[in-house]
Order: sequence, then structure tokens, then C-alpha cells
Amino acid sequence: MAVREHNFWLTTVTMPATDSARPLPENVDVAVIGAGFTGLSAARTLAKRGATVAVLEAETIGWGASSRNGGMVLTGLKLGVNQLIAMYGRERTQRMYAASVASMDCVEQLVREENIDCAFSRCGHLEVACKQKHFDGYARQVEVIAREFNHQLRIVSRNELQTEIGSSIYYGGMVDEVSAGLNPARYVAGLARGTAKAGATIFEQTRVHNIERETRQGALGWRVTTSRGILHASDVFAGTSGYTGAATPALRKKIIPIGSYIITTEVLPEALARELSPRNRMIYDSKNYLYYFRLTPDNRMLFGGRAAFFPETADSIRESAEILRLGMIDVYPQLREVNVEYVWGGTLDFAFDIMPHAGQMDGIYYAVGYAGHGVAMATWQGRQMAELIAGEKPENPFVDIPFPGAPLGLYNGKPWFLPFAGAWYKFLDWVS
Ligand SMILES: Cc1cc2nc3c(=O)[nH]c(=O)nc-3n(C[C@H](O)[C@H](O)[C@H](O)COP(=O)(O)OP(=O)(O)OC[C@H]3O[C@@H](n4cnc5c(N)ncnc54)[C@H](O)[C@@H]3O)c2cc1C
Repeated sequence: MAVREHNFWLTTVTMPATDSARPLPENVDVAVIGAGFTGLSAARTLAKRGATVAVLEAETIGWGASSRNGGMVLTGLKLGVNQLIAMYGRERTQRMYAASVASMDCVEQLVREENIDCAFSRCGHLEVACKQKHFDGYARQVEVIAREFNHQLRIVSRNELQTEIGSSIYYGGMVDEVSAGLNPARYVAGLARGTAKAGATIFEQTRVHNIERETRQGALGWRVTTSRGILHASDVFAGTSGYTGAATPALRKKIIPIGSYIITTEVLPEALARELSPRNRMIYDSKNYLYYFRLTPDNRMLFGGRAAFFPETADSIRESAEILRLGMIDVYPQLREVNVEYVWGGTLDFAFDIMPHAGQMDGIYYAVGYAGHGVAMATWQGRQMAELIAGEKPENPFVDIPFPGAPLGLYNGKPWFLPFAGAWYKFLDWVS
């Protein structure tokens, strides 16, 4: 059977309909750019506080990474804890880690409040070690995380690993029971419904081209020019992640867009599915150039990785199907004869320091930089930033930390250096 170049998750959902004939309002309190987890979570929170909100989405609801991801709702940040402490000190790192754990509760609460049927489950995550020295590092991490953040992880030795994963290639693992899994397309659809119910209006096929400062009726605000006309807003919030473009040029220079690709197999027999992932964990490995994988709620193996670099094209998606299938068989030889049914790609947003960032740039509010850890963090950042825009004082340790750009400033938003970065990460995986 031919592999379909299509996002499997979209076959499981009906996205909410919006009224394409509805004209843009002339004025709003807040214009939100992007209808993914970040933008929708912010818009819902603002609307619940009585603000008038227009969500401006260039494509369709959830079109970006939010409908395309692995659905892993993960604790922790992309960087290791020792590195974080070295960069930000203990106190701020503790707050960052607490935010990552709070972001899990934020998703769970939202799913419950909006009654979103997205197979949310606290199934835990498993990191597997590709090398003995990666496994040796786990003991230190578990100890530091318990001591500094009062958060318990569990080491799984190589001998016990079969209780967690039906693969014999890894040197051991580390489990966090707090992490969760969900169907991201159903989650973003439910979030969009909740956002509309709260009173925000979502405009699809509405690309923001330009944002300019203006003074109107004596008040400072923004003139937002879109593909559907002009709108005036007191505040603008960008939740554009890896798709950040020319409308916010300063932000665009800080974001490296990186393609990530996923395959899903046909539906597996129950016994095989249980053999591959006995506890239904969200799994990823310890490499820089990592694989992440899980069972879908209907028992397909979903297997993802950075098989190729941005820009993602029809060709790179097609090539990824076979590259990822070979990677999947290395992990699970049991899947050699199993059909791959879907392949798709999407764009992640990496900051140069691989950290989430939020705040104001040139007066425009933003939250970006999730580095593949965005399902929970984007939802949380949207809510926290909305509270900030509403004049509250929410906890947010990612606001106003240094936000580095490219070395020597040699970056105009077109990531010419990505092939070199890809080669560098592969090299690091080889030597480290
Ligand atoms: C293949 C893949 C797998 C992933 N797996 C995981 C995972 O398992 N766990 C995890 O935690 N994270 C994962 N991530 C990351 C996670 O999906 C993202 O961090 C998260 O979805 C970001 O949400 P967002 O709302 O900020 O951005 P997005 O969902 O990308 O939305 C941004 C939106 O902005 C719109 N936009 C951009 N510019 C404009 C404009 N000028 N005008 C109007 N609209 C505009 C875009 O059309 C887009 O819809 C993965 C990402 C990918 C691509």
C-alpha cells in the first residue's frame, strides 16, 4: 500500500468551522497572530477576562505544528538541568522547572474544563539511552532533579527495560510518570471551540502582513494589515512559533525553523502493540538528532525524528518516510513487515539558546522557542502571556531572559546555516 503524505491526526478530527464571510472588526483589544496552542490559549484566557480578541490565522485552525506533533505532553525543558543551572542560577531554574510541571496541569485542566475528547492520559514518558555514558548520566540527573526541584524520576536498568519497551538496542531508561499523551489535532480543535465559546473570534485564511504603531483617538495602539483588511488593536500577541515570518521581522531573526517528520504504521494487533510499549509511554531517545515514538490511541506506531532539515518540501516528506521506517526497524525489528500508512512534516521553532522565550519585542507580545517541547509549554505560555497583557502579574520565568540572536548577527530569517547545524548535531551524536 502506498504511503499517504498526510497528517494522520487530521483523519481523526473535525475542525470547528469559522465564518469566512465575517468581516474583520475595526477595533479589538488584542489581535492574536496564529491559531495554534499558543495563540488559542492566549485568546481564550483574554476573552474570559472580557477583552475583545481577534485570532488571525494565515491558514486554518491548528494548521501549524499544533495539529502535526507527536502529542507528547512533556515535563522538563529541552536543555539538561545542570546546563540550565549554569545559565540561569538555581532560583530561576527552579522556577522554570516548576513552570514545566505546571504546564502539564494547565493542559489537563483545559481538557477537563472544555471537555475535550483527545485521549489525554497521564501515561508518563520514557527517555531511552543510546549509549552507556548517556545512561550513566541519568543517575546524576535524577538526583539533581529530586534535590533541586522535588520532582521524582525513575531509572530503569537495561535488565528491566523490557517492562517499558519491546526493543533491545538501548542501554537503559529514565521514566517520568507525570508526563502525558494526547491526540494533538483533537486537542487544538477543542481548544479552538473553547476559545470561540469564551468570546474570541477566529479568522482563518487571514495572514498578517504588517504591524505598525499608530495613535488613534489619543491612544497608542497598532494598525494591523492583513490579507482581509485592516484592524486596529490596543495590543498584539504573536504565537507564530516555527512559522514566524515577515510580519514580525525582529522576532523572525531569533527563531530557527527546523523541520521534523513523522510516520505512522497501519493499526497493529493488540498483542504486538503491548509488546512494543507495554505501558503506553511517550518515548524518545537520548541523541541530539533524536527519534520520538509512541502508540496512537488506535494502536499505530507513530515514529518521528528530524530526518531532514527545513525547508520542508513534498520531496523531503516523501524521503522521510523511508528514512524513518528504517530508523523504526532499527528500534523495533518486529515492525519490518508492517505497512507505513502516513508520513507528514512540520516546523519546530528553536531559539539560538534552545530555550523558550516570552515578553515584548518592539512592543509586540510574543511567546516562542519551544524546541519540540511545545504541547504543554505553548498552552501554558499562551495563558501566562494573556494574563500579563491583561495587566496581571503571572509567574513566568521565561520573560526577559537574554534572547540571543545568531552569532555576529549573520541571520536574516533565512536559515542558510541549517545543513551545517545538522551535520554538527550528527557529529555530536557520533562522538558523545
Ligand atoms: C513534527 C512535530 C512533532 C512535534 N512533537 C511534539 C511533541 O510530541 N511534544 C511536544 O511537546 N511538542 C512537539 N512539537 C512541538 C509543538 O507542536 C509546538 O511547539 C507547538 O505546537 C507550537 O504551538 P504554537 O501555537 O506556538 O505554533 P503553531 O502551532 O506552529 O502555530 C503557529 C501558527 O501561526 C500561523 N501564522 C504564522 N505567521 C502568520 C501570519 N503572518 N499571519 C497569520 N498567521 C500566521 C501559522 O499559520 C500557524 O498556524 C512537535 C512539532 C512538530 C512540527
